[in-house]
Amino acid sequence: MKFASRLVNFDVAPGDPYRPMATPIYQTATFEQVHADSFGDYDYSRSGNPTRKVLEDQVASLENGTRGFCFTSGMAAITTVTHLLKVGDEILADWDLYGGASRLFARVLNRSGITVRYVDASDLHSVAASITPATRLIYAESPTNPLLRVLDLKGIADIAHAHSALFCVDSSTMSPYLQNPLDLGADIVLHSATKFLCGHSDVTGGAIVVKDPALADEIYFLQNAEGSALGPFDCFLLLRGLKTLKLRMDAQQSNAQAIANFLASHPNVPSVHYPGLPDHPGFDLQQRQARGGGAVLSFRTGSPEAAKRIAEKTQIFRISVSFGSVNSTISVPVKMSHASIPLELRDERALPEDLLRLSIGIEDLGDLLGDLDKCLNEI
Ligand SMILES: *Cc1c(COP(=O)(O)O)cnc(C)c1O
Repeated sequence: MKFASRLVNFDVAPGDPYRPMATPIYQTATFEQVHADSFGDYDYSRSGNPTRKVLEDQVASLENGTRGFCFTSGMAAITTVTHLLKVGDEILADWDLYGGASRLFARVLNRSGITVRYVDASDLHSVAASITPATRLIYAESPTNPLLRVLDLKGIADIAHAHSALFCVDSSTMSPYLQNPLDLGADIVLHSATKFLCGHSDVTGGAIVVKDPALADEIYFLQNAEGSALGPFDCFLLLRGLKTLKLRMDAQQSNAQAIANFLASHPNVPSVHYPGLPDHPGFDLQQRQARGGGAVLSFRTGSPEAAKRIAEKTQIFRISVSFGSVNSTISVPVKMSHASIPLELRDERALPEDLLRLSIGIEDLGDLLGDLDKCLNEI
């Protein structure tokens, strides 16, 4: 079956005698055991829950992996991946990371003796030159957020594996409809399910998918041992949102492409970052390893004041952190999603202060363009 069919044709309720069309919410913490000395399929929802199992299997299937795991947030998923490491191990990360990941790496991981070093992972030579015998994990997003740099996932995976390191890709900006990092050699694909997987701004969640059974066992162990699994109702909402992933993404991506084209030709916009634009440095690579530029883009406005004015003037684009919702949103990354980056790293990264990030929704394209045009002409 093709992706569109797989989104709605899967076993939504394994073993259920009533054959429901939607997955029931097993809102129960415990399951009665028949015997005192053996468990059934489920015993305690931290360890396993039928609603979560359906979601985890579906996410695993959409990412072409073998096992999936859903967490209370994207950050809980990232935290779990870092717990695969031990004292003395090192993470080599691309420098353009989600603010929360930077904060976790700088201010939490340092407490457990794990070092994080940053590299420009869009340059494979830098990655190869920076990896050391202590590097246990290479960690990156692609396209990165908010600068939409495109990383060569296959190239990085090859370098990681030549040094017996794992490669984890945060693919939140793409969703499994547009990109499948496991097919490109990544060991772990991770999502903030809060974004495109959910699509409706009504769930905070995270997902991890892997292929390797031993790695899957380790992640399951951590999910259960740390108690970070997603609850049944949120799993239900995610299952519901996921069914329209292709419809949403198609509409959002097509709007985003048109908006990127519009911004690229607007006299008041110095530059646009969108990997669906042919003059984007990562355009060819994105064409090869993904299926479009996605629905997140950013652009410079000339000054921090202009960025603030535009964000506050828009009518349809709501000022909001996060992305991937059916609603279009606008944000000032340095002040919002990336404000949690530790100061010393923020200098190094030098995220432009006049940068605005847009997440494009499913609204009418003319309305979106009209809204932006009006604001840009008034700055
Ligand atoms: C939002 C986001 C996260 C964190 O996810 P939460 O669900 O907010 O915890 C991680 N990575 C990326 C790329 C994100 O955009």
